[in-house]
Amino acid sequence: MTTFQEALQLVLDRAVPLPPRPVPLEEALGLVAGEDILALEPVPPFTNSAMDGFAVRAGDCAAASGTAPVRLTVQGEIAAGRPCAPALGPGAAYRIMTGAAMPEGADAVVPVEEADAAGGWVTLCGPARLGAHVRLAGEDIPAGGLVVPRGRILRPAEIGVLASIGCARVPAHPRARVAVITTGNELVDAGEHPGPGQIRDANIHSLAAQVRAAGALPVCFPRVPDRREAVTAALEQALDGADVVLTNGGISVGDFDYIKQVLEELGAEQVFWRVAQKPGGPLGLWQLRGRLVFGIPGNPVAAMLMFEEFVRPALLRMMGLSRLHRPERMGVMAVPWRKRGADGRMNLLRVRTRAQGQELLVELTGPQGSGLLSSMMAADALALIPPDTLAIPAGGGILLHLIDQPEDH
Ligand code: AMP
Ligand code: MG
Repeated sequence: MTTFQEALQLVLDRAVPLPPRPVPLEEALGLVAGEDILALEPVPPFTNSAMDGFAVRAGDCAAASGTAPVRLTVQGEIAAGRPCAPALGPGAAYRIMTGAAMPEGADAVVPVEEADAAGGWVTLCGPARLGAHVRLAGEDIPAGGLVVPRGRILRPAEIGVLASIGCARVPAHPRARVAVITTGNELVDAGEHPGPGQIRDANIHSLAAQVRAAGALPVCFPRVPDRREAVTAALEQALDGADVVLTNGGISVGDFDYIKQVLEELGAEQVFWRVAQKPGGPLGLWQLRGRLVFGIPGNPVAAMLMFEEFVRPALLRMMGLSRLHRPERMGVMAVPWRKRGADGRMNLLRVRTRAQGQELLVELTGPQGSGLLSSMMAADALALIPPDTLAIPAGGGILLHLIDQPEDH
């Protein structure tokens, strides 16, 4: 059987970054730049005032003081957004607003609070420093400068800067489109009352939410009954528009588990099926028509954990990210833990952590059955117990994935 580490490596080897394409800025938050992006124009594009005040020639008021004020004639007013005003004459000033273009000849701005204006004149009681309160063209970003390097995550600041250089569509790795297909005759919608033997379809919602939380785009398909033709039709349709397909349920060895059979009939290449882990043993990965198809077991906890440990890093890599994994830490067991018997599997436990001094104390969230979805709500970490570890004493070390925190490696 494939080991946990081998399976993860096989997933990552096949998850290749989606080719960059132009993405409207409004949709680009969290995406990764696919090219170096240069400024074609300077920012700001023209020299302008940083204050509401008076645009002056610094030389005209170099000698101004409280005892010898300088009086300048006010030549006009320049509001933000107005095209260039005529050049400033000697002995004159312009009333100017923040963001308005500096007129030719002016080289300093005296803030309105430091000037005394009346009757077409302005009186200054101090010198103006050359360049005071003036924002030079290109002082933020020079023309030709590298603004966003390839590989950079687009945060709100990057988005704003890209807008300022006129990059309305940014070349970025797109969000992965992820088809989500749940299967099972026993399932009904969340808004329905289950009949005898039926349960609500929790996984379509938890998986779609996980896809979205990873920054990818879920495409939820109508639920598929446990019939071979229905599974075939759903897979055919899903492969058409998605980058990745997640099937859920029907991947084990039950009499009505058709996913694997159908994938084989469709000619999919099996990358692996069955992983030495608990939960999630029946997990499989196939490649078909250039798409990755994950066969995810239906038990609700297993489904979420398989997404967390295998699908999420794959999606992040496809979207051009280089940090794919949550923080890994060593924790310390608060209570002893023991396996029921040697099972040769990596055990994934849902745990809660608590800082105590320098250590992270670890407690189980409670019973660990793979159907107990509420245990996922209580967990802030997964503990990974290697196949050959049969027991951990209280105080023993345990490897954790901190699933509440963003990727750090
Ligand atoms: P399967 O992997 O199809 O054998 O399903 C394993 C267990 O998970 C069964 O108890 C199913 O009823 C349950 N299950 C499968 N799919 C879902 C789902 N979408 N939502 C909630 N439970 C599910
Ligand atoms: Mg099923």
